[in-house]
Amino acid sequence: MDPSISEQLKRIPQVQKLLESPAAAALIETYSQQRVVETIRASLDTLRAEILSGDASFSVEALFERVTQALEASHRPSLRRVINATGVAIHTNLGRSPLAEEAIEAIRVTAWGYSNLEFDLDTGKRGSRHSHVEDLLCSLTGAEAAVTVNNNAAAVMLAVNTLALGSELIVSRGELVEIGGSFRIPDVISRSGGTLVEVGSTNRTRIADYETAITEDTRLFLKVHPSNFRMVGFTEETSREELVALGKQRGIPVVEDVGSGALVDLTRYGLPSEPSVQEVLNSGVDVVTFSGDKLLGGPQAGILVGKHGPIEKMKKNPLMRALRMGKLSLAALEGTLRLYLHEDRLAERLPLLRMLTTDHDALQDRAQAFRDSAASLDRVTAEVLDDEGFSGGGSLPGQAMPTKVVAVAVQGLSPNALLDALRASDPPVIARIFEDRVRLDLRTVRDSEVLDILAALKGIVS
Ligand SMILES: *Cc1c(COP(=O)(O)O)cnc(C)c1O
Repeated sequence: MDPSISEQLKRIPQVQKLLESPAAAALIETYSQQRVVETIRASLDTLRAEILSGDASFSVEALFERVTQALEASHRPSLRRVINATGVAIHTNLGRSPLAEEAIEAIRVTAWGYSNLEFDLDTGKRGSRHSHVEDLLCSLTGAEAAVTVNNNAAAVMLAVNTLALGSELIVSRGELVEIGGSFRIPDVISRSGGTLVEVGSTNRTRIADYETAITEDTRLFLKVHPSNFRMVGFTEETSREELVALGKQRGIPVVEDVGSGALVDLTRYGLPSEPSVQEVLNSGVDVVTFSGDKLLGGPQAGILVGKHGPIEKMKKNPLMRALRMGKLSLAALEGTLRLYLHEDRLAERLPLLRMLTTDHDALQDRAQAFRDSAASLDRVTAEVLDDEGFSGGGSLPGQAMPTKVVAVAVQGLSPNALLDALRASDPPVIARIFEDRVRLDLRTVRDSEVLDILAALKGIVS
């Protein structure tokens, strides 16, 4: 063995000795004796191997630096905050809607102590967890009754299982959609115990198609909003009014899964139009289902609103126990829904709506300010560009919104390498590449996070 290598190896102290140093004491205080010992051992093993291959030399400082980094990395939560610089406000992979302060506070209060989750404060008897948001949902949508579950997929399951278990339900072939890899309407229907009867063709379904498919066994018409795609050209969709009229005539309820679930008229905010839940209910549909964390801007939830009869049946379905919402989400949902009571202030209080409605001038100003700071860094070039953004989450499908982005480049790094380096920053910055340039859309970035992105860039070039 090379004498200098054996010299290096000999300099490595005993683990016990290392543990007595002040640096170790501070780590033990934070991470526990056992984890520090394990990490020192593991780091020494790697270091020995490196010394043997002639790649490293020993120093106590470098060893503790290594141990500290390993402990910090293993201590970091798996579920972490990231900066969404994609401009996609309802980004399913990034956790969909950020919550309003009021919703976050409701979670905090509910999580801290006990609550009247299922306790009636007037009578002192057992209460219902559904009671906390039902009146709110009814007054916001005009529905007779409402119930909530874990997410919209669960809402569709509950509706089918309650109203069409062991019987037939009719769905248009144009609406047998897949929403995200794991949610296909036909699969959900069969797992919910209903027998799917498909009618019409992919691009055209007429009311007569529904009518001829009715048998003694038909219990439900299900309409599904084809959230994440659009059909153009030679198409025909049966209107919900026609379907409701046929349902009334034949005694068959109509359930519509609207997916995104806007509670306000989005055109008021200059956004593309999406049928609001009220509008769908007004046309006579018996039950409407939608998500809590898409256009509503709240926590993950599935919301069912509609006529008293079917909703009460759903509350009594034994599956309800498996599909029900947790108390923290319920608190957040109530906090979010309360904001809708004061619609004039909604766009300023609800982060999702604030992001979606950020106007062009404001986006331009933010992009310009960021460009100036970024471009002042060594090796960084930045340019403000016009681009198209999407709301995401299967809402407002195909509706591109004009937006402003900052295209960033770092000398000596490919766009992919820059994208990876941004993602490896702390907090990770998630951007996208289009036309061979890394683009940051500040629509979905909070003011305080702009500084984080600049710090990430600084770290990358230093
Ligand atoms: C998003 C969506 C779902 C699934 O909702 P989750 O809340 O993600 O479970 C179901 N149906 C439609 C039409 C959707 O857009």
